[in-house]
Amino acid sequence: MNVLHEMVSYGHERVAFHQDPATGLRAIIAIHSTVLGNALGGTRRWCYANEGEALFDVLRLSEGMTYKAAAADLAMGGAKSIILMPKSDHQPTEAEARAMGRFVDTMNGAYIAAEDVGVSPQFCDWMAMETKHVMGGNTVSHGGDPSPYTALGCFNSMKACLAHLGKKVDFSNLTVGIQGVGATGYRLAKLLRQAGAAVLVTDVHVPTVKRAVEELGCVALGNDRNLFTEKVDILAPCALGGVLDAKTIEGLKCGIVCGTANNQLRVPDSDGALLTKRGILYSPDFVANAGGLIRLAGLYLGLTEAQIDKKIDQIEGTTSAVLKEAASMPSTAAAAVTYAKRKIAAGAKKPQLAGAR
Ligand code: NAD
Repeated sequence: MNVLHEMVSYGHERVAFHQDPATGLRAIIAIHSTVLGNALGGTRRWCYANEGEALFDVLRLSEGMTYKAAAADLAMGGAKSIILMPKSDHQPTEAEARAMGRFVDTMNGAYIAAEDVGVSPQFCDWMAMETKHVMGGNTVSHGGDPSPYTALGCFNSMKACLAHLGKKVDFSNLTVGIQGVGATGYRLAKLLRQAGAAVLVTDVHVPTVKRAVEELGCVALGNDRNLFTEKVDILAPCALGGVLDAKTIEGLKCGIVCGTANNQLRVPDSDGALLTKRGILYSPDFVANAGGLIRLAGLYLGLTEAQIDKKIDQIEGTTSAVLKEAASMPSTAAAAVTYAKRKIAAGAKKPQLAGAR
């Protein structure tokens, strides 16, 4: 993969690679944009098939963070980092996290690390032993686990989808299918069950499914069935990205797709348009899953708890606005990018906030 060519095509400002001989850490930080401010984005630990796949992931994820922050009206840019695990069961250690913290520190605050898949609040605290540019820990850094806020934002986005389709915003007669009942999916399932929905769940990790069934009364989908072809009112992808492609979209039997996973569309333009063609309402991922970023970025930017809660409530309004704009566009995904780019263009004209950049 030609890195500079890819940076130009995605519009990245900076991509940095790092290897630490003492711990074996291999990591990439991708800063997509600092136009609206310093850029907060999670650190993902993942075992990639090859470097090209890792680079593709970090470039796409960091671009998405720029749009996520802008659409949520945060004075934040967009960035993400990844740690390339040598094997899938490689355990996180304090030494690895601290080496990553030192790498984050070299960005001088333009990049602020946080949780993502494979990174816990403990890992954030270990990174924070080496740099002050980390959010999401409980002791050395702060903010804690953002997933309850991500789940709440996604639930708010679902309400907007129902209203947009002219349906009653009442979950009691609805069935929602959730792929992945980990940190965000479990909490989303809880909110939906509390609102009276029937919730069908899948997860590759059997004890995680068991927890959702036993604690929340969710229904586990049998191994012989596929959630992406089940008849549900709302499908919520809450595991990994790329789950909506030409093949899966063709088989969908839901009216709405709204989940917490990042980069749900494998090819955003064509897959977004295919969803429109099939008459399935897609809540753009970076709008629906912004709650966790709003929480951590809000704390970083010094917003009050009340201001942060209000912004998470506002995900419902933002979803509605984007869905309305999509009427004249090929897809809701394209409308969301246009919406975010408009916010970036408007923000770029304003003087930068103190501490930003
Ligand atoms: P998590 O690791 O806690 O949960 C993901 C769950 O998905 C796990 O239980 C895993 O076993 C399961 N899973 C993996 N592959 C699966 C498959 N093929 N089928 C079914 N289940 C599968 O992660 P999370 O924090 O809940 O994040 C989930 C998604 O949401 C990720 O894409 C993440 O980037 C995105 N996201 C999370 C947050 C957050 O606040 N945690 C914020 C924004 C976006």
